[in-house]
Amino acid sequence: MKKLKIAIQKSGRLSDDSVKLFKACGIKFEVGKSKLMSESKNFPAEFLFLRDDDIPGYVADGVADVGIVGDNVLVEHECHVNRVKSLGFSKCRLSLAVARDVDYPGVSYFEGKSIATSYPNILGKFLKENGVDAQVHFISGSVEIAPGIGLAEGVCDIVSTGGTLLSNGLKEVEPIFNSEAILISNNSLSEEKLELLDRIVFRMNAVQTADTHKYVLLNAPNDKIEAIINIMPGMKSPTITPLAKEGWSSIHSVLKENDFWENIEAMRKMGAEGILVIPIEKMIF
Ligand code: ATP
Ligand code: MG
Repeated sequence: MKKLKIAIQKSGRLSDDSVKLFKACGIKFEVGKSKLMSESKNFPAEFLFLRDDDIPGYVADGVADVGIVGDNVLVEHECHVNRVKSLGFSKCRLSLAVARDVDYPGVSYFEGKSIATSYPNILGKFLKENGVDAQVHFISGSVEIAPGIGLAEGVCDIVSTGGTLLSNGLKEVEPIFNSEAILISNNSLSEEKLELLDRIVFRMNAVQTADTHKYVLLNAPNDKIEAIINIMPGMKSPTITPLAKEGWSSIHSVLKENDFWENIEAMRKMGAEGILVIPIEKMIF
């Protein structure tokens, strides 16, 4: 059987969560510092460990069939690949930053100025859309030092907390692109490989849905059941079992992570007691 070739980052901010996701999908493979490739023992897949910048190109060329990469790198490289799904990790943004003492008036500040970045395409597009004529200097790393050494007046770089900017005397002034990890695939996969990709996506969806839901068990007076199950409708419908105590039932259902506490508080007000909240490992509809 053909194996699906999966490219993930060898070492960096995408690596751990990429490996964790495939493992949560039940796909076993070895990861080692010196390893460049690893075959799964229980799924027809072969993992390639690469620099993140090379992943979109390798997937476009068919060296790898699928890959995980940051949206920032994907859009910057403009490769023709299929976006399969967003993965919700390695969230960050690409932002313009200037020296901390600059009184920033808006994007027009950059008119006629120079900006250092590793993302000339994304930045170029942003400047064009905003009608700003600036000089873009490409630097492949350590972009934050550019203003300090007099190379540029501003930078455009990845920010998550802003700590790196701050320690280099810079401040974030303009977020221009939001990024997260994306699963990508080659545009012309064989039927056989598409089927393998479908199996992986099905498993990833089950893992992701489980992460955003909790299993909830609670006891409630019978006359409050209807109001409570309005808040907690469950996958098809909740399970309701009578308790030994007359007039009381136990309700089992799933609850979404968003508004979780608000919903628990509302159910307590309605008379729910003995509330147990349990994590779900996989969720399949
Ligand atoms: P490589 O050696 O593979 O080229 P790299 O140094 O270019 O690695 P990393 O710093 O590991 O890249 O970042 C990989 C991706 O993770 C980035 O392209 C971005 O999508 C995301 N990322 C970068 N910084 C952060 C951050 N601080 N928080 C969350 N995600 C981030
Ligand atoms: Mg890189």
